[in-house]
Amino acid sequence: MSTPSPELLAALDLRDDQYSTTEADRDDHSRDWATAPREAVAPDVVVWPESTGDVSAVLAAATEHGVPVTPFAAATGLEGNAVPVHGGVSLDMTRMDSVLEIRPEDRQIDVEPGLLGSEINEALERYGLFFPPLPTSGDIATIGGMLATNASGKQTVKYGKVGDWVMELEVVLADGSVVEVGTRATKTSSGYNLRDLIVGSEGTLAVVTRATLALAGRPEQQRAGRVVFDSFETAATAAADIVRSGVDVAALELIDSLAAAMANAYLDGTLPEKPMAFLEFHANHGVDEEIDFCRTILDRYDPLDVEFGDGSAQDDLWEARRELADATRAYYSDRESTAPGDLAVPLSRYPDLVEYIHALSDERDLPIPCFGHAGDGNIHFDVFADPADEEEWARGVETYETIVREAVRMGGTATGEHGVGRGKRKFMLDEHGESGVRAMRAIKDALDPDGILNPGKILPDVADGR
Ligand SMILES: Cc1cc2nc3c(=O)[nH]c(=O)nc-3n(C[C@H](O)[C@H](O)[C@H](O)COP(=O)(O)OP(=O)(O)OC[C@H]3O[C@@H](n4cnc5c(N)ncnc54)[C@H](O)[C@@H]3O)c2cc1C
Repeated sequence: MSTPSPELLAALDLRDDQYSTTEADRDDHSRDWATAPREAVAPDVVVWPESTGDVSAVLAAATEHGVPVTPFAAATGLEGNAVPVHGGVSLDMTRMDSVLEIRPEDRQIDVEPGLLGSEINEALERYGLFFPPLPTSGDIATIGGMLATNASGKQTVKYGKVGDWVMELEVVLADGSVVEVGTRATKTSSGYNLRDLIVGSEGTLAVVTRATLALAGRPEQQRAGRVVFDSFETAATAAADIVRSGVDVAALELIDSLAAAMANAYLDGTLPEKPMAFLEFHANHGVDEEIDFCRTILDRYDPLDVEFGDGSAQDDLWEARRELADATRAYYSDRESTAPGDLAVPLSRYPDLVEYIHALSDERDLPIPCFGHAGDGNIHFDVFADPADEEEWARGVETYETIVREAVRMGGTATGEHGVGRGKRKFMLDEHGESGVRAMRAIKDALDPDGILNPGKILPDVADGR
């Protein structure tokens, strides 16, 4: 692949303030939230499209000149998804950030991809509507990035993933052609489902330039809760029981005792350093009856403490969980996470996976805090090791990989919500087998025959170096 020539940039017909080759701008686009400095890769040029026409022109020219193009948004990705590992163009989508139309009568909104998740909900407030599947990073991540990774969050247990709320997309293919995929109708049986193919494709198949999203009514009643347990395995079993019993829970998160200690240290808090479940309930009526039902299931597991609240008490109850991403990063001065762990397994295997991780932590003598969206079988973990100690770091990386492979072996997936990016490519064959990966590669080759869109992501390398 070649780097963008001055002729290519001239052919794009962009204003001077729509592209940059300065070191500062290239550096800003060389990494995402979890990229270690040694793993950053700068693009040759950053381009800020302002319309579908701009995106189409960039992709058509890039295909003609064989230049890689990597879509880039808020860079909150955790798998190097937006890092332009082969250089070329970083296509920064953040200037395309308008709300185009709200249709309350259909419960739909049309947005450009650079809009932040929280901005969607702000625009919907006066209609009593909201977009429910936002990830925890909903106020710092764009809807384009969320679509591209099929993000999900703490409310997935009730509302599903971002992809479940996408109705129609306008996308630009590698050759610059503009295609509408999906429909604004509630159901369809029409042809191949290209919309769901684009969702989760991490900018490797097309660039999203407009999205029609489905919406829900804001619930009249909300409550939150926090439950302290004696062991994480008991907490995980209780969480699985709550979901299996059909409690209408909107969020159900767990943290282990090490994660609780990290939250305390970060917040200067006084929570018990014990495993905890965090719950949220949404309803239009009968929320207290639902909580009573939940309590009957919790009682089977002898919790050490159970608290429920509404209004401002909700925020207080959830504070430790909310701050955990920063708290884990801040805890050790001499140890780093080898990579952000993000696994999902069938609910019945959740307690087994947690037990497996904790046993491995003892056996390998490495701290591994666990937390996550237990209600949907998603677990986050970090294997902490000292990067300056070669042997310990290698042990940490190997431990991380062993855990991911065990989750896949349990019938789960190597990534519940962060996507494959470059970090999880090595597990694609474990999870999908050779024929599965071959089928994915055939789709990639059909839509992007020159391989210009976000190369070096999702699919593992093949012998010819692609
Ligand atoms: C504190 C924190 C908490 C987080 N919590 C969650 C969570 O609860 N759930 C979750 O799922 N994730 C979570 N994440 C990860 C991250 O926020 C998501 O992956 C998010 O969807 C990325 O959005 P972004 O705008 O930052 O995209 P980027 O990181 O900039 O890009 C992500 C991917 O999207 C592609 N892309 C971006 N825009 C487009 C477009 N218009 N068309 C095509 N491709 C595009 C990029 O090429 C890249 O592959 C968290 C991250 C942080 C830092």
